[in-house]
Amino acid sequence: MISKITIDKVYESARLEEVIGDFVQLKKSGSNFKGLSPFSDERSPSFMVSPVKQIWKDFSSGKGGNVVAFLMEHEHFTYPEAIKYLAKKYNIEVEETEQSNEQKEQASERESMYLVSEFAQTHFKEMLWESELGKAIGLSYFKERGFTDETIKKFELGYCLDQWDGFTTAALDKGYKLEYLSKTGLTIVKDDPNNPNGSRKFDRFKGRVMFPIHSLSGRVLGFGGRILTNDKKAAKYLNSPESDIYHKSKVLYGIYHAKQSIAKEDNCYLVEGYTDVIQFVQRGIDNVVSSSGTALTPEQIRLINRLTKNITVLFDGDAAGLRASLRGIDLILEQGMNVRVCTFPEGEDPDSFAKNNELEDVMTYLNDNAKDFIQFKASLLVKEADNDPIKRADTVRDIVNSIAKIPDRIQKEIYIQECAQIMNISEAVLFNTLAQIEKKEDKDVKSQPKEEQKAFDVVRGKDVDEQKQEKVDVQYVLERKIIESLMLYGNLKEQFEDLVLKENDAGDLVLEPELSEIKVYEKIYLDLQEDEIELANEDFRKMYARLIEALNEKEDFSITNFVNGLEQEMANQISSILMEEERYMLHDWERKEIFPKSKEIGVAQLVSETILTLRCFLIKKRMNTLQNTTQDSTTDHREVLEEIMNYIQLNKLLNKKLNRVLS
Ligand code: ATP
Ligand code: MN
Repeated sequence: MISKITIDKVYESARLEEVIGDFVQLKKSGSNFKGLSPFSDERSPSFMVSPVKQIWKDFSSGKGGNVVAFLMEHEHFTYPEAIKYLAKKYNIEVEETEQSNEQKEQASERESMYLVSEFAQTHFKEMLWESELGKAIGLSYFKERGFTDETIKKFELGYCLDQWDGFTTAALDKGYKLEYLSKTGLTIVKDDPNNPNGSRKFDRFKGRVMFPIHSLSGRVLGFGGRILTNDKKAAKYLNSPESDIYHKSKVLYGIYHAKQSIAKEDNCYLVEGYTDVIQFVQRGIDNVVSSSGTALTPEQIRLINRLTKNITVLFDGDAAGLRASLRGIDLILEQGMNVRVCTFPEGEDPDSFAKNNELEDVMTYLNDNAKDFIQFKASLLVKEADNDPIKRADTVRDIVNSIAKIPDRIQKEIYIQECAQIMNISEAVLFNTLAQIEKKEDKDVKSQPKEEQKAFDVVRGKDVDEQKQEKVDVQYVLERKIIESLMLYGNLKEQFEDLVLKENDAGDLVLEPELSEIKVYEKIYLDLQEDEIELANEDFRKMYARLIEALNEKEDFSITNFVNGLEQEMANQISSILMEEERYMLHDWERKEIFPKSKEIGVAQLVSETILTLRCFLIKKRMNTLQNTTQDSTTDHREVLEEIMNYIQLNKLLNKKLNRVLS
């Protein structure tokens, strides 16, 4: 039992905003603090902390209370655990009666597992610093790796003696139960072939240097152990097995040390393993964590997401699996985070790089080489697909797939624009691909059986939210592009290629390319006329009519004159379309300097792609509507079917044209 005096002292000293600040990034808002709810996934903050009243309220989940309630909710602490945690944070001595063996037995199962793990950490530290073999083997290994005493202590590194059951015996002697030693995986229990009623016990981490893995609040959950011999048969790194207290998918190595720095720097570096984290921290970069050997999971990302929106993934120089790793990064995008990636020179990893370079140089390297993920991926794929049209099409899909994961619509659009430049392709094509992907995803979600979807909702919690991602309205974007093209290039004379039906020498009808030199506005007008396309957006429709009229009338069309001659409202609308680019540039996600605007693709190509994409889009839309009417059995479908057939033909033709323009 914890004494009443201790509890009172804890309540007197604890500052709610400080305690919560360790877990949630808080911003001052009037006399309160505000942050993103740590109990649900949200994008606008609804979590409030009142330093005056010392209470918190989470409007998204309805939870609230005092400092202890927060720790119990958030860390799943019991009441005494919460008090002890606060006492430790505020350097208050806990007065309590020593736990007897009996009390140890009574402690809950999970609590027992925590206690065993904590004992193990202490024991391994002791072996490292105090035993002769530990000092000679373990400690000297760490020092060889370049870890200082301070670092070794900070990460509570240890050593497990090279004996079959040295640790297990020590734990049992102290009264810890074999059941929990086994459940945490610290001890491996096997049947004894010589004694049917007995069992044999082995230390899992025999002869390894130990890296304890801590929770966000600093409790020991499990261990990683590195072998020190050159035994080819044994794994270099061995980790605690999954258990009631150690869920690999929910833990990030280093998060306990890094959390404050992550929030403060508003960025998190993600590295591969224990030694990368440790070397970075020793070099003076604290905002670093690792997913320890496994692919990053949504839960791990959420852990980071509470502290910052920005993540920088660091890859080894010789990461052969770079391509494969890229896929995992889509998961991070799905959570609305900004992802950057940084690779190291051939043969280097974050560990060696931080070890061999001064802080200033490491920082400079990271700042200079961290690239926005989408841009990084686009450039990488473009390089690979160079001059191979089939690969190029795959590449477009691949990159747009990533973009589709981003929840924010404006950000999506910006990425489309940037990738269009990097890949030297029109935005229209990318937007259309995006629409196809989004539509397909919609269908996939809807077509799931009810039951399954329900289970899915519960298990994946947050991911339901992803289904509500904002869709890009492709038709709107394309129509806006047409208006923009008319304004910027309407009066330019360009060479356009078209496919026309011609009779060949054998008398068959074939599609042949034909070049024509006409003005951009004529091209747009004639092509849209051909399909009897009217812009759907009323404002665009009006602008379109006025623009065509003005371009047709005046040889010397200029935007300025045109805008000046318009009534106020349309002038505003036109200006905002022209300003759109500027607006995007104002969204400074530190990308501008990474990728200079690459060369513009030709006007003719841009215009052709936009028109063709719009036409394809509208035809598909029209076909869908027609197909729906055929499901109504009361009417005669012959005419409709015929119309559909015509559209299918037309669609084929348009796709052919589009492919020509693209390649
Ligand atoms: P070496 O001295 O041979 O370079 P290392 O200890 O640096 O060995 P690496 O093989 O270079 O280990 O691995 C890089 C990082 O990946 C290390 O930080 C390590 O913690 C981590 N790692 C490797 N394998 C595993 C694993 N199975 N589980 C968890 N982490 C691992
Ligand atoms: Mn290494």
